[in-house]
Amino acid sequence: MTQPIVQFKGIKKSFDELEVMKDFTLDVDPGEIVSIIGPSGSGKTTIIRMLMTLEKPSGGDIIVEGENLWKMESKGKMVPADEKHLRKVRSNVGMVFQHFNLFPHMTILRNCTEAPIHVLGLSKKEAETRAIEMLEKVGLGDKVDNYPVQLSGGQQQRVAIARALVMRPKVMLFDEPTSALDPELVGEVLAVIKDLAQQGDMSMILVTHEMDFAWQVSDRIVFIADGQLVEHGKPSEVLDNPKSDRLRNFLERFR
Ligand code: ADP
Repeated sequence: MTQPIVQFKGIKKSFDELEVMKDFTLDVDPGEIVSIIGPSGSGKTTIIRMLMTLEKPSGGDIIVEGENLWKMESKGKMVPADEKHLRKVRSNVGMVFQHFNLFPHMTILRNCTEAPIHVLGLSKKEAETRAIEMLEKVGLGDKVDNYPVQLSGGQQQRVAIARALVMRPKVMLFDEPTSALDPELVGEVLAVIKDLAQQGDMSMILVTHEMDFAWQVSDRIVFIADGQLVEHGKPSEVLDNPKSDRLRNFLERFR
């Protein structure tokens, strides 16, 4: 049996008085494409941010490649289990946000070479070769010398995807990658993500409200509500044959 690349075990997460996750458990296998769906405020972004180490859980285990990210200190405070592992995870996990967050004063190429140079220690030339390869992959090989403002929102989001891919992550996280885009630009971004999913060499966790897209690309769909996983399974099981009223009601909105 292969070891899951990512495991959430009994995750609790509160922001002050607000309890967002009560008991969230999920394993993701290497190469698996998992879409997380659920009502607004149910904690989808928080799950992604915890895996990106941008948020700490309040309890439970987040295990990446067999190693825990955090350990509980005596006073209930979560601290890094191993700083070295945490740094490795940060460079092995790529993230694409709702808003593209490109550096406006840098060319498209430089936007994609900053992290490999400063985090991975690649030479400028190596980083540029990788960046151009990834920009070509997302169909933007001719935009290397442009600035973000000269690109459409869809193109900027494709740059953000290329920028994450340059790091050669083992896991890619997408947090509603098309929700900030005009409707006519959504398709080109989804097509790039679908392409990546079909290559099958990376695990992907997607938070999305694009149900048709989730149906097409996902190996598994996870529905969360009230701070826990309510249902999960193949797209045909979860989206076409929901078992709980909660999921049935949620899916009604997309019909
Ligand atoms: P979703 O992505 O499912 O819409 P989120 O994970 O963004 O949900 O948020 C879950 C809940 O946690 C929301 O009620 C949100 O307001 C709250 N929340 C998220 N981040 C913070 C934060 N940094 N501080 C306080 N509350 C937060």
